[in-house]
Amino acid sequence: MGFGEFLGNARIVQALRGALRSGRVPHAVLFTGPRGVGKFTLARMFAQAANCERLTDDFCGECATCQRVSLLADTDLLIEEGLTERGESADAATVERMPLILQPYPDVWAVVPDPVRLKTPVARPMLRIGQLRAVQRAAYFQPMGRRRVFILDGAETMRGDVSNAFLKILEEPPGSATLILLAPSPYTLLPTILSRCMQFQFAPLGLAEVEKILAERTKRSAAENKLAAALAEGSPGWAMEMDVEQTAQRRREALKILESAARGSGFAQLFAATGALAKDKEAPFDEQLGIFYGLLSDLLEVTAGIGAPSFRNVALARELRELGAKVDTAWVMRAIAGFDQLHYGSRRNLNKQLGLDALAASLAR
Ligand SMILES: [Zn+2]
Repeated sequence: MGFGEFLGNARIVQALRGALRSGRVPHAVLFTGPRGVGKFTLARMFAQAANCERLTDDFCGECATCQRVSLLADTDLLIEEGLTERGESADAATVERMPLILQPYPDVWAVVPDPVRLKTPVARPMLRIGQLRAVQRAAYFQPMGRRRVFILDGAETMRGDVSNAFLKILEEPPGSATLILLAPSPYTLLPTILSRCMQFQFAPLGLAEVEKILAERTKRSAAENKLAAALAEGSPGWAMEMDVEQTAQRRREALKILESAARGSGFAQLFAATGALAKDKEAPFDEQLGIFYGLLSDLLEVTAGIGAPSFRNVALARELRELGAKVDTAWVMRAIAGFDQLHYGSRRNLNKQLGLDALAASLAR
């Protein structure tokens, strides 16, 4: 047990251990990187090491404190308990008064975007003002153990007033507390928050590392794990929870759209495919765009003539090379610019189907 179990991003682990060893632990830390790459896991391990009863720059995993904090390994269960306690039909005021806090141990809190279940459902889970106010109050308590650790997952979902509550804590940093923010990218946060955090950017893991983790922690067949690892773009967490067949299928379909657009034939067929894509309710549009961006960045490497491209879509390497031989870098750049427009358009609620059709038509020309 200990940090040794954490695969990938060794320099971040070293830096955190160094901080614990020297006693110069920052008040605010920001972990950024793709989902499933291990940000929450490492934050939980840091909380264990900061309070382990036996070790100071690592954790034993066996003492009572380590075991309590390790409950954070299953956040779904804790979230479910929290929501049940609050009651399924809580109104908006109750949601703020009874903020969702995961607290497996008095000094260690995890705050996650609240998937509020109201009678009338709200848009998407986000960190709420009630949660931040609770953190604000608790941050100044003396720790029972050595250090209070607050993990704020989904920091990019903080709105104005929530960000301000967070900034207030950073402006008067509590003595023995560390706040760890998790977000996909630093650009999703206010500069005033960024400038007060020590930042760590998590890199995707290598294919072999992802496969190793999957072999140890899933019951899937070796073949299925191999495919999941190839699809997961370096994120073991995502690889573990993904529906492998569905994920592979979505990529194949997206690649088919690019292929028929590049062939410049069959608009009817092309629009049928984009129509199916626009109607797919299970995959959020952002996720679909992400699939196209992934394929296009692979194509960019092929058309640029890079000897051994490091494909994000390893499983589609052959098809990508074939398509890459038919288009050039200018075509790929045009496609990327087109998807950028779609991305901005979708934020302003433009019609996705029309946007996709226009893009496909412009690529076919
Ligand atoms: Zn311990």
